[in-house]
Amino acid sequence: MQGKREFNIEQKWGFLAKADYGKNQADHFYKNISGWTDQYKKYASSGLTGSVKNYFGELESTLNKGKQDINKIYEAAEEVENDYAEKCGNVAFEMELYTDRINALLSVLHRGPVLNAFVAPDFAARLEKAKKELLEKEILALIANPDKLENLDIANRDVTAYISLISDKYRGQDLFGPPPIISNVERDLLIKCFEHQYPEKEKIMTAFLKPISKGGDHDNEVQCIKYLAYSSPEPYNNVFFKYLPKVNISEHHQSGTQYFSVGIFGGKNIYIDIGRVIYLDSSGNPAPTDPANKGGYATFFHEIGHAIDRLMGLPSPALDDAITIDVKNALRADIESRYLPPLSSQDQADIDAILDSLMAKAPLLQSTGDAARDAFANQVRTDTINHFENVVLKGGSNSTASDVYGGVTDNKIHGTWAHYPDSKGKSYWVEKGHKPSSEFFADAFSYHMTGYADSLKSIEDNLPKARKAFVDMIDAGQ
Ligand SMILES: [Zn+2]
Repeated sequence: MQGKREFNIEQKWGFLAKADYGKNQADHFYKNISGWTDQYKKYASSGLTGSVKNYFGELESTLNKGKQDINKIYEAAEEVENDYAEKCGNVAFEMELYTDRINALLSVLHRGPVLNAFVAPDFAARLEKAKKELLEKEILALIANPDKLENLDIANRDVTAYISLISDKYRGQDLFGPPPIISNVERDLLIKCFEHQYPEKEKIMTAFLKPISKGGDHDNEVQCIKYLAYSSPEPYNNVFFKYLPKVNISEHHQSGTQYFSVGIFGGKNIYIDIGRVIYLDSSGNPAPTDPANKGGYATFFHEIGHAIDRLMGLPSPALDDAITIDVKNALRADIESRYLPPLSSQDQADIDAILDSLMAKAPLLQSTGDAARDAFANQVRTDTINHFENVVLKGGSNSTASDVYGGVTDNKIHGTWAHYPDSKGKSYWVEKGHKPSSEFFADAFSYHMTGYADSLKSIEDNLPKARKAFVDMIDAGQ
């Protein structure tokens, strides 16, 4: 391979010796400082002024010497780092123990508050940074040599560092495209590390995905699902794995609407289409991201969200109340910002009447007996409906707010996305009795698992109290 240099084993041990030197120096320094600190305590409590004074003089010179030692250690580490970059950059995987040595240095430095207080303040941060850069180099080398992933000995590696490095790098992006953003190597490396670190979670995942994994036709989708679940942040990761053993994939080639339902024996069953986790065009090629769609895998985790919401004992009246308050607050603020203020008490009464008329099951806006006032109220009402549809709740990233605003108002207020009445004209919300909290929960849970940042932001902006109620529920359900 171009640019690959043979790794010289003596060089390798040379670097490691330098790292060892740094570690020994740090150890030595630490012991020294600890000793002096003990003495200081002794002298200080005995109240011997002269001795304390002497002590301070000696302590100061020791600290200065210690600081010099620490700088030497840093230089040694930096030299190792430079040598490494220069000589081994292309053969990262030959350097098996290097990260361990850096970690050993770090652990010495982090050992005590005394040492932490006196080392160059950025020393540990710089070592951490060097470590991160090293991991990034290793990952790049792996991407260039994907066949090495198979035999990568992760038992001797800092797997949690890989997990957080790769998760942090890609969180909030539409990973699997199109076009795909994350490389398969990074995806698979994270999976390998996570399963090494959390074998009990791997077991749960493997059992859950069994219907999809069978036959090997959906290996790619299985890896993508694993990646999203494994890289999800806490507390969502814990909640997901806590409840997943009770969720079944009853169908994974569901035609038409994908859904969740409770089986006759109480099973929490999801009916999904593994072929539609990434949107495909009519020829089966990845379709350009449709802003009205919520993106790949969102529906998959949404249906699991419904199952988890049931397992946690929901739907929740507290969440439904919070959604109603959010919707009323948003409508009121919108009206007040577009008309006046200051509002007269009559205006306030009219706004209250408009808001009431927008809620589900509400009667039509009642006449006040004053034709001009009625006309104005009707105008405000119509403007508000249009403003939310065409501005506030427009677009795919607002789909949750659009849906649940529709739930609270029986679709008088909604954006691009809504649960419309069925073919017989029965309202999804009023006649069929679905709760906005249920869709809110499933969506919010899905966005945390898939990392859809725009959708989460829309929830925060448009449903702040509901968002807080949801987070409280997740915290309680851990
Ligand atoms: Zn749903």
